[in-house]
Amino acid sequence: MTQYTVPRGTRDILPEETTLWQFVEQKAREVFALYNFREIRTPVFEHTELFLRGIGENTDIISKEMYTFQDRKGRNLTLRPEGTAAVVRAYLESNRRNQEPLSKLWYQGPMFRYERPQAGRYRQFHQIGCEVLGAGNAYQDTEVIAMAQHFFTALGLKDLEVHINSVGCKICRPVIKERLKSFLGDNLDNLCEDCRKRFETNPLRILDCKNPKCNDFFVGLPDISSVLCADCKSHFHDVQDYLNILQIKFKVNPRLVRGLDYYTKTVFEVISGQLGAQNAVCGGGRYDNLVQELGGPALPAVGFAFGLERVVLIMQNQNITVPDARPYILLAPLGENACGRAAVFAEALRHSGVPAEIDVSAKGLGAKLKSANKLGVAYVYILGDDELLEKCGQLKNMLTGAQEKVAFTDFAARLQKNYQQDRGEK
Ligand SMILES: [Zn+2]
Ligand SMILES: [Zn+2]
Repeated sequence: MTQYTVPRGTRDILPEETTLWQFVEQKAREVFALYNFREIRTPVFEHTELFLRGIGENTDIISKEMYTFQDRKGRNLTLRPEGTAAVVRAYLESNRRNQEPLSKLWYQGPMFRYERPQAGRYRQFHQIGCEVLGAGNAYQDTEVIAMAQHFFTALGLKDLEVHINSVGCKICRPVIKERLKSFLGDNLDNLCEDCRKRFETNPLRILDCKNPKCNDFFVGLPDISSVLCADCKSHFHDVQDYLNILQIKFKVNPRLVRGLDYYTKTVFEVISGQLGAQNAVCGGGRYDNLVQELGGPALPAVGFAFGLERVVLIMQNQNITVPDARPYILLAPLGENACGRAAVFAEALRHSGVPAEIDVSAKGLGAKLKSANKLGVAYVYILGDDELLEKCGQLKNMLTGAQEKVAFTDFAARLQKNYQQDRGEK
């Protein structure tokens, strides 16, 4: 028989790991709601044109990473490689602007990019992100940064640090690019192939290069912040003021640029971990031209996104554990006659909110206690022929090993009470 495997670049997320995923998703829901963000769900595929327009044709995503296909009617469709373009499309299509001056939206789901698979990087990966549409005020940038920091703190991530920068706007970006080009131009031959390509298409991205060889030539880089226009300068200043007011520690990192072309003014990353093991857990920024670029009005916007694979990996590396929902009790009928009775008990417990498992196998008591240990249950209720006659089972406390008789009539109420008490203590 053929042994099927997952497609290259994809993976299964197994129950041992989904606990962490659910924890991250749950925290996102909780924390984002505190900031008045509401969830939006868009399709997994969109018209290819949307991404060509929204992401920027000179990016790696557009040039080589999109999963594009034609449907049976010859429409060009693409599996979404990121979330923002679709959210903006849905925002415009649903006329939300007429219903609310400011829209705070968040999304989650799988994204697709045809990348070379490597550790922690997959062709189907998962993102959670948020977008604030209709707000140009510097407070909004700060609120989004504050929410990101709040969220990652709630996950238990250690040594969080916020890095910010301004990448300018339509007016001052060309000046920034020219400065960079004239500074790097002399050394162009010494830069890596990616950088040489970016020199023509998007010189700002050269700053993003992780190649140590290129880094040597960045020494003495012109100060980008001095080239910003008055509007960008004062916006960046206000963002830093708000961060100070909210006592959010941050660093201005003049080398911080984001992979996507559409960012304007503020860009930021949240970093976790100590020096040497630092990881960016999320990135985002302002994108004041994208809504118009996608056919809408000139409307400022700001947001951030993070990859779940990466965040889960960092949590694992930092030994962050989350409570795992396991059964509270195992029903252990011995012999066929007891199975029906035990099944009724198991179902009654589940209906009263107590997670219960039942072992109807033909195994003996020793084996059933062993599997109870493996499950990590607090109690085992043992039902043999004698117990059926007496209408009274043996309740074993798996922590203390103590065992006592509990009548059938008292059993469900007793377990429910124990369960509530145990849960209250945690
Ligand atoms: Zn500017
Ligand atoms: Zn380079």
